[in-house]
Amino acid sequence: MKTVRAPQGYQAKPGYLAGKNILVTGAGDGIGRAAAKTYADHGATVLLLGRTASKLEAVYDEIEAAGNAKPAIIEMDLSSAPPQSYLNLADALAAEFDHLDGLLHNAALLGERTPLNNASYDKWQEVMHVNVNAQFILTQALMPLLQQAPSASIVLTSSGVGREGRAYWGAYAVSKFATEGYMQILAQELENTSRIRVNSLNPKGTNTAMRRSAYPAENPSNNPSPDDIMGVYLFLMSDDSLGVTGQAFDAR
Ligand code: NAP
Repeated sequence: MKTVRAPQGYQAKPGYLAGKNILVTGAGDGIGRAAAKTYADHGATVLLLGRTASKLEAVYDEIEAAGNAKPAIIEMDLSSAPPQSYLNLADALAAEFDHLDGLLHNAALLGERTPLNNASYDKWQEVMHVNVNAQFILTQALMPLLQQAPSASIVLTSSGVGREGRAYWGAYAVSKFATEGYMQILAQELENTSRIRVNSLNPKGTNTAMRRSAYPAENPSNNPSPDDIMGVYLFLMSDDSLGVTGQAFDAR
């Protein structure tokens, strides 16, 4: 798969995302938390979706304390939320916001690290549901709001193991391959019929709970922090990436 390196050292001007409404999934921790705070620092109103209320509230408080636009909290467990709840969410957002400029699909489960032959079907299904199906349902539900934006950006989070298979990475790797395929199809379908761009982004090894759990023997500080990789997250949500679609980005 041909990948694109993010513009190195990209920095958005202060207030560059002002007026944009951006929804981030998995906004309570790790990369999603950093992205939500970064978007808010650049003027966006962020919609914080996640499954752990206390984590979302902490991010909300930090954004408010920084004097940024008041965020919104969407408590939702993507592993169990029924399809109707995505439609209800879209209705609730439409009552509050007249458009959605950005959708960062970031929430994911790592699942089991085991040979495919030993993998549990229940755990396989949960990973595929959170990492693939939920992205599909959420995007479909939010499409009318995305269509209302002057331009909108959908970013799907990939991984190195979603671009080249690796033994023992199981459902997680398969879910990231599916994410790349979904990105390519959606980007093509929207390219000439909408003002919505769709790209994937591999953050690469980043010091988060997921990375520490996947690589317990690694020194966590050998990896960049989520804050260190925010340049490409900003680029893809800003108007500097207008016209960029169907691309598979690497954060560095
Ligand atoms: P993380 O620290 O584990 O954060 C994942 C976030 O997703 C958490 O906020 C988590 O919520 C949320 N989440 C998980 N299951 C959910 C569910 N069922 N419903 C709602 N939210 C759910 O992981 P991360 O490292 O920041 O990963 C962010 C993205 O980058 C993922 O897509 C991951 O696959 C990708 N990625 C990461 C790395 C890396 O080195 N870190 C490398 C390649 C790709 P809770 O906090 O409540 O559990």
